[in-house]
Amino acid sequence: MTDEKVRLGLALVRSIDDDGVALPELMDRIEEAVGDAPAVTREVIDRAESEGVLSRDDGEGEARFSVDGTGVSFEDEVVTKEGDFDCARCGRSLSTGYFVRFDDGDVGPYGSTCIRKTLGRE
Ligand SMILES: [Zn+2]
Repeated sequence: MTDEKVRLGLALVRSIDDDGVALPELMDRIEEAVGDAPAVTREVIDRAESEGVLSRDDGEGEARFSVDGTGVSFEDEVVTKEGDFDCARCGRSLSTGYFVRFDDGDVGPYGSTCIRKTLGRE
């Protein structure tokens, strides 16, 4: 497991603005962003919980998390690139890829709808 991926995953979680994400959905978002490595995803979730960014709510059967992140500024932190991309979330081919820019690297590409879903904006 690379620490760089864990830091990138944590940066993603901090940028999510969502008060009710189911655990599988949250794991999908992290895996789509940093790659398909369950050990990294678990480490990201553990650290985010210990930092207080994630709060687990086991209330009604399915574990949900509320994410107390800092959000992301679409103007400053989301960059677009023209090219030939496949969306990290749905696999659709894109001519414009949206990336979230973090200190440890970029996450993406996403389509314009999927980036909003990933960050909890819809
Ligand atoms: Zn997509």
